[in-house]
Order: sequence, then structure tokens, then C-alpha cells
Amino acid sequence: MLVVEDESDKRALIRGELERRYGSDYRVTCRGSARSALEKLEGWRAAGDRVALVLADQWMPDGNGDEFLARSKVLYPEAKRALLVSFGAWGDRKTADAMLRSMARGRMDYYVLKPWRRADEYFHRTVTEFLQEWERATSANPQEVALICEPRSPRAYELREQLARNGVPHVAHDTNSPTGRRMLEEAGLAGTRDPVVLLLGGAVLVDPTNVELADAYGVSTSLEGREDFDVVVVGAGPAGLAAAVYASSEGLDTLVVEQESIGGQAGSSSLIRNYLGFARGISGSDLAQRAYQQAWVFGTRFIHTRGVTGLRRENGRHVVTMSDGCEARAPAVVLATGISYRRIDIPELDSLVGTGVFYGASVSEARAHAGQEVYVVGGGNSAGQAAVHLARFAGQVTILVRRGSLAETMSSYLIGEIDAAENIEVRPHSEVAGCSGDGALETLTLRNPLSGETETVPAAALFVLIGAEPRTSWLPPAIQRDQWGYVMCGSGLPPGCWPLERAPLMLETSQPGVFAVGDVRNGSTKRVASAVGDGSVVIEQVHHLLDSAEAARATARSPA
Ligand SMILES: Cc1cc2nc3c(=O)[nH]c(=O)nc-3n(C[C@H](O)[C@H](O)[C@H](O)COP(=O)(O)OP(=O)(O)OC[C@H]3O[C@@H](n4cnc5c(N)ncnc54)[C@H](O)[C@@H]3O)c2cc1C
Repeated sequence: MLVVEDESDKRALIRGELERRYGSDYRVTCRGSARSALEKLEGWRAAGDRVALVLADQWMPDGNGDEFLARSKVLYPEAKRALLVSFGAWGDRKTADAMLRSMARGRMDYYVLKPWRRADEYFHRTVTEFLQEWERATSANPQEVALICEPRSPRAYELREQLARNGVPHVAHDTNSPTGRRMLEEAGLAGTRDPVVLLLGGAVLVDPTNVELADAYGVSTSLEGREDFDVVVVGAGPAGLAAAVYASSEGLDTLVVEQESIGGQAGSSSLIRNYLGFARGISGSDLAQRAYQQAWVFGTRFIHTRGVTGLRRENGRHVVTMSDGCEARAPAVVLATGISYRRIDIPELDSLVGTGVFYGASVSEARAHAGQEVYVVGGGNSAGQAAVHLARFAGQVTILVRRGSLAETMSSYLIGEIDAAENIEVRPHSEVAGCSGDGALETLTLRNPLSGETETVPAAALFVLIGAEPRTSWLPPAIQRDQWGYVMCGSGLPPGCWPLERAPLMLETSQPGVFAVGDVRNGSTKRVASAVGDGSVVIEQVHHLLDSAEAARATARSPA
């Protein structure tokens, strides 16, 4: 751990706190100036030492803390970096602005309040969280799962994605690296080119399928004889997980079926910064794992790595068919299958998602890019809204569109707002062809699809809004969808498609007892919080449905 603090009394206090608490596992080094701290880091790097945490005061005689942290990132990208802030410094706008700018650029992780007394647990809570994140993320630490693979093999990428998005602590080694070769030899697999997965318990898997990997990790991939539930939830993104937590906690026998990874789209977000209660943001997979565990302790059953392929009604119950042919039955089904954002197929962009490249509007990022040059890709209303919102903060917003103008794809009121904004430029006949950046986006390469000409421009952020598709193609025709495939519900159902006398419940689809929540629902707000809101609200409606079915049965049984 490295601390840079120019005031000697504060430095001594921080050193004491860190050494007493972490001294047996970490070496604590304190420096009084940015220059000597940087020299220390360079020396450690040359010697091959590891650094877990770098803390720096903002205002030092020989340099600013945010700039020092940015330079330390180049030397130790995996180290957690934070600005040391004094208690009561909130009114200091200069420090706050430097900090917010720096966090938005991915140059530091957060801030830490300087300890002001011995055993300052508030200080230690932040430090401990950093250490846990570093321990999980650093490639050199042994983890529960080791993947030995050729880094550029597409299947290895899929396996890494599956592990990462499901929040499985893992480490990947190149098949050709000394560690990779040694581990393969020890497993009796010397020379194997296929991806190999080694689990803490001793299991060895050669080129496993997703189902085999999930089975080996100990999560359930089949119904194991159970068939009847109170409610089946399809999809374990934020909406499905919220539905599961509320259903199970309220006594409903609940099954969740997920085809890819827990957390859905949110699981692919490196840092969700606008979810209530997580001031320094939370990684999507962390949030999803917390929700998953919460549902699990309430008793939710999960089936992993199985898609739902069919839904039909039989003897008054809904029957859900899974990709392995198994079937589950329930009086209520919640569709939480979400959408998939269309992505730009450029690998370098993928590596910068969350640190300059954003899929969707990511409105929370707007303030963080105050005064900077940002780009929006897309010609639809969502791209227009994002551009207008960003222009309130950014220095310059450029909208990239493949067509010659926005006229055919965007509402005229938005085109008017864009024309009126001094800092929004529309760049027709433009597409993204590449990018660069050391840990955060720095430049974009733009191409004119008609002429093939390219130009490289500096860019602090790229917001990609090129459309999304709801995952509903497998649904039966009885479930009404709008022209884009989003599921219609409640009062939004077209006339004539609702078969019962009672009115449909707010989140009920055209098939009574089947509900839709989250992004897949027509008219939904595409945010984690609103998906979670839908997922929690729908369970009250499921109760209503089950109670009225129970009441109808009781009436039928009672003597006239
Ligand atoms: C890169 C990225 C970053 C984002 N960042 C933010 C952010 O910072 N803040 C914010 O508020 N929002 C953010 N969003 C949007 C947010 O993630 C979504 O609004 C939210 O995840 C929607 O939740 P959902 O549960 O409705 O759907 P999804 O998250 O899409 O989850 C649906 C799940 O259903 C599963 N599924 C689909 N079909 C089937 C089937 N047939 N059988 C079984 N399972 C199925 C899918 O595999 C998926 O796991 C981001 C989105 C992306 C892509």
C-alpha cells in the first residue's frame, strides 16, 4: 500500500491505521511528495512488486493527487486508487471537481475520508472494500476457478464472459505462459490447446459447455424431478431477480430460469453509478450476485444456463418448456427476458465499456463529462435525447449518423432542440471504425461509409444508441407484442385481445396469468431501478391473481 500525504501528522495517523490493521499481510509505504511516491512506484514495478492500494492527498506542493493517481494507473493498472479527503471538505468545489473529473475518466476509483482517530472504522470499511476488489480482480492471485486458454480463442472469450458475468472469482492463464504450461502438466494435460478449466475442489474440465461448467461449479441446471411452482420467472436480470426476491420472501414457491448469466444486461456493466444507495457505484455482476444470494436465501429455485423455449396453457396452469426439454408448471409466469442492445462489433471498444464507452444513454455519466468532447452514435430518438442531455454538461457533443441526416429517423421536436443547441454537431455519413485509449477512451477513428475516408479524433466518451431488440421471438402468438416485439400489458393491450371479463392487471399480458416486467415490457424505462421496480410490483399482482383463483375455487365448492 502506498500513501502520499504531505502533512506529516496526517501521514503518521494514516500509516498507524494501515500498519496496525493490515501490516501482517501488506507492506505500508508512506511518502510526503508526489515525486518521491512516483519514484517508489517505478522502483517497485522494475522489481516486479505488486501494489494493491494507492492513496493520495489532492493538494501537494509538487503536484495534484488526481494527476499522480492517473500516472500511477499507467504503472499499476490493477491497483485500487483513491483520493484522500479531509472530513468536512465537501464544500471545497475545487477538490470535488478534480475528483469527479478523475473518476469519470477511470483514473481513480473513489475517495477515502482521512482517518481522524485510532480505529476509524469508516476509513477501514472503504480500505477493506478496495482490498477485496483488488484481490478479486488481480490476475496474479489464485482464484476458485482457473481457466487455461489461448487468449484470442473465441470459446475462451465466451467462457471468461460466462465466469465474469456470473460473478465467479476466476483467473485466466495463457496456454503458452510458464504458469499455464505448468498447470496443464500438473493436470496431466500437457500440450492441450482447448480451453481447460480447473476448479478449487479438483475438478478438471476440457473445453466444457456452459452447462457442464455450471454443473461443475455446483449450480443447478435441471429441475431434478420438481415440476410444480407458484410462479415461474423467465430471466434473471434485475427485473427477474427482484421478482424472485419478493415472491420467495412472501411465501411463493418460485422458480427462476436463466439462459446465460445472472444479472442480464446489468451484469455486463462494469460500474452502475445511478442505482440508489451505491454512491461509488457497483459493478453489475456484484449487484446481481447480491440479489441472487438474497433470492436464494429466501428459497428461490434457480435453473442456470437453460433457455425457456415454449409457453402453453394446460389444465388451468401455464407450462414452461426449457431447452433441455424439461417442463415446469405454475398458475403465474413472469416474463423478464429483457432486451439485447445492438453493439458495435469492434473488440477495442468492448475493452473500454464503462471507461469511456457506454451502451445506452448512461445519463449518469453526463455530469462526469462536463466540458469534454463526447460522441453519440445513432439517429433515433434515444440518441437525440441522450445528445440533448449530454449537451447540458459536455463541451461539445457530436452525433454520428450513417445516413445523410436525422430527418427520417428522429422526431422533429428533437431535431429542433439539436439545431438550437450551440454545442451539438450532427456528423452525417459517419460510423465508428476504431478507437484507442489506455484504460479509458482517448480517440475514435471515424469512417465515411460512402467514401471510405477515415479520420481520428480525440474523444472522452462514446454513447452507443443504435437500437435494441426484445427477447420475445419464442413467445406464443397469444401474447401480444408491439411492432418492435415488446410485450404489451394491462391498459396498453390492444382492444379485443383480452379474453376475460375482469380487466387485466397492470403488468399482465394478453394471456391471463402471464406478466411482463423490465426492459421487455412495452413502454418501460430502460434502467436497472425501473426493472427492479417492475419486478417487485408484479408480485403483488401475482398474489392478487392467486387469491382470486383461490376465492373462485372456494365459491365453486361452497353449497348454493
Ligand atoms: C452495458 C450496459 C450498461 C448499463 N448501465 C446501466 C446503468 O449504469 N444504469 C442503469 O440504470 N441501467 C443500465 N443499463 C440498462 C440496464 O442494465 C437494463 O435496463 C436492465 O438490465 C434491464 O433489466 P431486465 O431484467 O429487464 O432485463 P435484462 O437485464 O436484459 O435481463 C434479462 C435476462 O433474461 C434472460 N433471458 C432472455 N430470454 C430468456 C429465455 N428465453 N430463457 C431464459 N432466460 C432468458 C437473459 O439472458 C437476461 O439475463 C445498462 C445496460 C447495458 C447493456
